[in-house]
This record gives sequence, C-alpha cells and structure tokens, in this order.
Amino acid sequence: MTTWLDVPTDHPFGIDTLPYGVFSTDDAPERRVGVRIGDLVLDAGAVAAVGRDAGLVGDGPDLAAVWQTPSLNAFLSLGRPAWTVAREWLNEILRDDVHRAGVEPHLIPLDRITLHLPVEVADYVDFYASEHHASNVGQIFRPDNAALPPNWKHLPIGYHGRAGTVVVSGTDVVRPSGQRKGPQDPAPVFGPSIRLDIEAELGYVVGGATELGSRVSVDAAADHLFGVVILNDWSARDIQAWEYVPLGPFLGKSFATSVSAWVTPLEALHEARVPLPGQADPPVLPYLQGDAFGLDVHVEVSLNGTVVSRPEHSGMYWSPAQMLAHLTVNGASLRDGDLFGSGTISGPSVDSRGSLLELTWNGTEPLTLPDGSTRGFLEDGDTVTMTAWAPGPGGSRIGLGEVTGTIRPALPLEA
Ligand code: CA
Repeated sequence: MTTWLDVPTDHPFGIDTLPYGVFSTDDAPERRVGVRIGDLVLDAGAVAAVGRDAGLVGDGPDLAAVWQTPSLNAFLSLGRPAWTVAREWLNEILRDDVHRAGVEPHLIPLDRITLHLPVEVADYVDFYASEHHASNVGQIFRPDNAALPPNWKHLPIGYHGRAGTVVVSGTDVVRPSGQRKGPQDPAPVFGPSIRLDIEAELGYVVGGATELGSRVSVDAAADHLFGVVILNDWSARDIQAWEYVPLGPFLGKSFATSVSAWVTPLEALHEARVPLPGQADPPVLPYLQGDAFGLDVHVEVSLNGTVVSRPEHSGMYWSPAQMLAHLTVNGASLRDGDLFGSGTISGPSVDSRGSLLELTWNGTEPLTLPDGSTRGFLEDGDTVTMTAWAPGPGGSRIGLGEVTGTIRPALPLEA
C-alpha cells in the first residue's frame, strides 16, 4: 500500500522518506515537531493528540507530548524502540485511508511554515572519515610528510566542536575574523578571513542517552543513531592553518556549522546501506569491528546555483557506527541531541571533492563560474547549497533536503 496522499512515486519526500523537523506557522508560532510528506508538513503532535484523546493509541510512548515541544530532543530521549513505534504509526496513518479524515486537517503546505533548528545540539563532534579528503589536506598543508597521519587507518580521528553555533539551513554566515600568518609572514595579522571555505558532510543525530562509564559497541550503534542531516562545516582555512597545531581546529571552525532542517531517520536509509570500501590493511582493533555499514548517499554542492561537486558518501573509510563506538570507548556518555559530522566527503576525482580547499587546490586552481568570475575561496554574497539523496525501496529516492547559507561581510574590526 502506498499513501492516500497525492504524492508522485518519484517525489524525494514520498511515503518512504518521512523526515522529522521543527516548524511554526504565522497562525501558531509555537515551535513543534513536523513530518514532511510531499510538499506538506504533518503537525505530528497535533495528530498524535487526536489519536491519544480518542483512545486509539495503546500503551506506547506519548508521542503527542514529545512532539509538541520545540525540538526533537524529547523524542530522541525515548530511544530506538519508540522511534520504531512512531515510524510504524506514521506509516499506518499516511497509508491507510481510514485515517484520512483525522489526518488531513493537520497537513500544512510547506509554503506556510517556517523551519527551525530541529535539534537542540548537545555535544558536537566532527570526524575526518574520508581517506581522499584526509590525503588531499595532508598534501596541501603538510607537503613534506606522509599524506595520511600514522593513526588515520587505526581510529576515526575527530575533534570536539562548538554545539551552540550549529545553525539551520538558510541562516546567513558572517565572515569570521581572526589571526592568520602565512609561512613567509614575519608576524600574524588580524582581520577578516581571506580563505573562507565549505565542507560537505553528513551529520548524525544521536538519541537514547547513555550513562557515564558505559560504551556503545559498533553493533549497538544503530540503537543510538536516530538519523542524518546534511552538514556544511564552514571553515576559515587561513585562521585554521595558523591555530591548529597542536590541539586541532578551533576558531577557524567554531563560528558556524549549518545543518539541513529535515532529519532523515535511519530507517529511511535501509536500502542505502552498503559495505565500507575496505579496512583490511591494517585490520582495525576489535572494538571497531561489527556491523560497520556505509551509506550510499549522493551529495551535490552548488555555488551561486552552479554545481561544483558531487561527493559520494559511499566511499567513506569509516562507518558512523564505528565513529559512535570510538566516541564512547573511553566511557564518555552520549546525550540526547548529540551531533557528529562525517568529515568532508571527498572522492578520488576532482569533481567529487567536498571543499574548495581541494577543488581549487588551496586557491591555486580557481573555479570559473558561468558569469566569468573565479573563486579560490568564498566571497561576500556567495550562496552555497548542498543537497543529497539516497536510494529507497523499489527504485524510489529518499530526499535529504538541502542545507544552504549566504556569506555576509565581516564585522567591522572595532566591533
Ligand atoms: Ca569538517
């Protein structure tokens, strides 16, 4: 059975996608959880409340209560069994037209809603899981050393980022200012970044919080991986290059990280599961072994409307399940709303590189846009949009939506 809604079978937000977001309307400005179907948004808490009040919902989780809140965090706290119940219930009410009269009043056209940050981000970690990206960056930043650091194939490298500056798609990004110092410069200078860049990534949203002192294995990771967003890790390469030794990225990254408004649940990516490209040499340690699936997600990066790259997530060396296992192997606890990034998704070909740093080889091979202008890095007024999709059941496409942002001029130096 498909759906009683009038949604074309090739729509990226068809019945097999059903992503979660947080929205409001002019009439009802309180933020609440919505589920997208086609070009409509289901006011999920409102329709769950109808079912609850009519006694149609059994002893399961009170979805009306958790969905009538301004973020997905309450829902995330319920964990995998409740997420499964919720998705089965949504499938039932959107597929069986016996529910049509009860559901239809709670469907709102997309053009009447405002989307908000879907998750109150708890902790934010960014990994570095693409071998091609890590190798390219190594060659650019450390040309005299091996392209990959010696630990790279033994553990998924990551750093803790700034949760409070994760913003929803559509939020403008003010060009950051900071210190930079080129290798030949006698002293650092302060000013607006002149090498502002993007990083095309997926972000994984975590729920089912764990206790301090416990671990999540690779096999158990899917119980805590709620879903996926598209993530743009804006990066000021000049600030980053001067500050990052020895403790890693800091102010060159922390000014903004953009995520898509729709969180695609892991269940919707079942058909997208693929084996990893290979970890045989060297073999990984036992705690990183298990159901380490990859995800066949196709990403497209546009700069001012021109596609500049098509990174393929299926080529990532490390699995999100391994990243989660590694995050907790020391006993660190998970919080509802934790977010971790895959790291820049880059493939072997030039047109599959997920950052301008790589696409222009640190600005030495600028891109030419249709208006004749060239870009080594981003200019004020530039808009970067990333979209993504994955294969779904029966040849359908699972849309992951988009993450977009426009660069605004830096603050005045004295501000
Ligand atoms: Ca990154």
